[in-house]
Amino acid sequence: MRYDVIIAGGSYAGMSAALQLARARRKVLVIDAGQRRNRFAASSHGFLGQDGRAPGDIAEDARRQLMAYPTVEWVSGTVINASKVADGFTLATSDGQCFDARRLLLATGVIDELPDVEGLAQRWGKSVFHCPYCHGYELEQGPIGVLATSEMSLHHALMLPDWGPTTFFTRGVFEPDPEQRASLERRGVTMVPEHVERIEGDRADVVLANGRVVSIEGLFVLPRTRVASPLAESLGCEFEDGPMGAFIQSDMTRETSVPGVFVCGDAAMPFGSVALSVGDGVRAGSGVHRSLIFGGIESRAGSFPY
Ligand code: FAD
Ligand code: MG
Repeated sequence: MRYDVIIAGGSYAGMSAALQLARARRKVLVIDAGQRRNRFAASSHGFLGQDGRAPGDIAEDARRQLMAYPTVEWVSGTVINASKVADGFTLATSDGQCFDARRLLLATGVIDELPDVEGLAQRWGKSVFHCPYCHGYELEQGPIGVLATSEMSLHHALMLPDWGPTTFFTRGVFEPDPEQRASLERRGVTMVPEHVERIEGDRADVVLANGRVVSIEGLFVLPRTRVASPLAESLGCEFEDGPMGAFIQSDMTRETSVPGVFVCGDAAMPFGSVALSVGDGVRAGSGVHRSLIFGGIESRAGSFPY
């Protein structure tokens, strides 16, 4: 069985792309390892029409609607290898299955590399977050912390006072210059330079090296991110540097530097969200479809949406 496209990653971006292709009656295989980035959070926010729903419920509704289309198939598994063959790609999964397709779409998302602070990982998505738009409102303007991970954390610390009184734990990772210090003071941010020993308690009690405990409702960190699978690298796709980590470079149709390989969602942009991933899947799905019809050169020449 040869598919028109295999989509590696069946979360918001991959399913959104699959939906466009299914509606064009194309043969689509989605292979998904079931590790959505937001699986640690109880609710998802900021996606119009879905605000406050459980991330898994949004995905489950999407999957039910998608699988009603007869040309879509789904395999639960991890793609471990993809290689170029004449006029397409052949993929292998970790349980030894092989599949062929004319196009390949990478929608694998990214992995968050959390700073190594005791008590932080188990609170990820519960009282430790990266995105204030996603989880800031629910903190009800209670005390907020920002844990410095890089220079970028300055922006986080300057933003968060809109969500609650903010303490910036710089912990030797970030040293504000006088101008930055003045900006932080104007925003009412409290700076704490001490080393952070651990996070404990029901929400996020930040225990400092000197024994002091700062109790906060929500702690914000900017983790490094990396694309969730080595497939793009092994295929030779170019990457771009984003402020939080590298993402896969692509053009307006979401085709990567390797002809026939497309990308969408968090793996394709510097910062992602559910809504952006769904929108990006639409772009990539129609990009894949046009490349199936027009081939490489013509599809790149025409940037029309339909
Ligand atoms: P993902 O949702 O990460 O899905 C990628 C899929 O690909 C996974 O199922 C994975 O298992 C699969 N996969 C990876 N590699 C392979 C492979 N080799 N073979 C097969 N399958 C593979 N965004 C919001 O808009 N609102 C929120 O409230 C919000 N809250 C968040 C809370 C937390 C704690 C985190 C970490 C993120 C949150 N986000 C939120 C961001 C959101 O989760 C992502 O932007 C979104 O999930 C990206 O969608 P995606 O489809 O690109 O990737
Ligand atoms: Mg079906």
